[in-house]
Amino acid sequence: MYVKIKNFILELFFPSFCLNCQKLGHLLCKNCYNDLKFYFSQNKIQEIKSNLKVIYFDDLQIMAKFEGSLAKLIKALKYQDSKNIAPLLSKMLWRHLIVPQVDFITFIPLHPYKLRARGYNQCQEIALEFGRLANTPVKNLLERTKNIKAQAKIKNQQERLQRMQNTFQIRSKYKDLIKNKTIILIDDVLTTGATLNAASKTLKDSGAKAIFGLIVASKNE
Ligand SMILES: [Zn+2]
Repeated sequence: MYVKIKNFILELFFPSFCLNCQKLGHLLCKNCYNDLKFYFSQNKIQEIKSNLKVIYFDDLQIMAKFEGSLAKLIKALKYQDSKNIAPLLSKMLWRHLIVPQVDFITFIPLHPYKLRARGYNQCQEIALEFGRLANTPVKNLLERTKNIKAQAKIKNQQERLQRMQNTFQIRSKYKDLIKNKTIILIDDVLTTGATLNAASKTLKDSGAKAIFGLIVASKNE
């Protein structure tokens, strides 16, 4: 009861509005939702094959193109301290992708410096709600081994791919857990696929049976 009243008061004074067009109501209004360019569960591995020498994940689904209202939502989630956007993106993923049954759900980790600055990992937030919807445990399996230049600042694709190698390692407490497991790996934005591939390689090297990449948005066509 108390929570209900508190939520009501919060909504009264801080109502939600569409982050794209400011319309009062939901974080994403119907019009702006209809603007999204969904990919409808196509397997997108072919499209990034030319970027990667070896592909370590088994399937790749991307929800929609990184543009317009979806790009705004993701940027707000990452840079404007808007954690409340994550469950909305999780529900959209759940609704728009064909979700395989797996042993675990995991996500691309942030470097600890970034995590401290941001206060949360947006991919973890998306994964947590997604795990509730899929009724599957979410595990923080991976960690970054070293800081790398922000992706956006690296223009040279070769440099980006090289830096990506050995970026991730399995958290020591999960080392024995991964063998023969099937895992969904969640990331928010895909560009070359190098990040997803490096994380998948780390999981496969530890004996993971299959990795299914689920991505919210792609910067490619
Ligand atoms: Zn709107």
